[in-house]
Amino acid sequence: MRSIDFSGGGEPLLQPALARWIAEAHAAGCETGFLSNGVLLDAEAAPRLIEAGVDWIAVSLDGATPRTYEAIRAGADFARVCENVERLARLRAAGRPRLMLNFVLMPENVHELERIVRLAARLGVDKVHFKQCDVVRGEQGRGRALFARAADRAIRALEKKLQRARRLARGLGLESEASAFVARELPVCGQDPRSSLFIRHDGAVAACISLAYGGPSVFLGRDVHMPEEHYGRLPADDLLALWEAAPCRARRERFAERVRAYEGEIQRGFLGTAPSSYEQALGAAAAAMPEAPAGCSVCHYLHGV
Ligand code: SF4
Repeated sequence: MRSIDFSGGGEPLLQPALARWIAEAHAAGCETGFLSNGVLLDAEAAPRLIEAGVDWIAVSLDGATPRTYEAIRAGADFARVCENVERLARLRAAGRPRLMLNFVLMPENVHELERIVRLAARLGVDKVHFKQCDVVRGEQGRGRALFARAADRAIRALEKKLQRARRLARGLGLESEASAFVARELPVCGQDPRSSLFIRHDGAVAACISLAYGGPSVFLGRDVHMPEEHYGRLPADDLLALWEAAPCRARRERFAERVRAYEGEIQRGFLGTAPSSYEQALGAAAAAMPEAPAGCSVCHYLHGV
């Protein structure tokens, strides 16, 4: 195992054993990290996690002002979370752990893109990750998605706003990453189940968090059902045996075939004899891929958003 991400839909700092698990994984040569809301990343937790050898921590900060942040994250204190992040940045040595801010784009906070970049620079983090609001399900999630199937005026304006914020980040020496505003089918998701597994709190093993929990979801504004699909359960099952068993192998191979078909078509489109525009080559590459596995075809992560 090269790397363990101790995040999984809950707050990792509520797990009392977190620092010990990180230390064990670190001693075994694994890269470790987790995504947190930062509320419990206090003066006691920060040195403990640094000492455990954690390689990266991402903190969700969906607003650059107390008003915006606290309206979105009810019960959390903006000043306290900022103080926690700043302390961690100050205490770390040689840039470890790497620190990131995750900013989930919503109608309520999209006016604060440049402000969050300036705040990130002031707090001393390394990177800002602009994410789409793609997993808030049910009524709470409705109307919050800023992405779409095709670009219109509003989307182009948002893209420009985001580009400006990312330029500012570069200027301030910060890295940035952003999900797309226009969904476009990719050969494989960022989770990349060809080389990773998700383990749920109760030991259920799945390709990713979405398939570990399943349930009603929304895909590009349409109500869909994400299947709950487990390969097995720890500790009764052996993790390597599950990795090599038919269901996991089949999903990995399907994604490998998709990547081969996609890349082959892109190479033909751009480098081969076929004169092809960028858009045509991407369209041909998408059409050449075998169908995505069950659940993945209605997953935003397979569409870059
Ligand atoms: S495409 Fe979505 S559902 Fe499929 S493995 Fe990736 S994250 Fe999971």
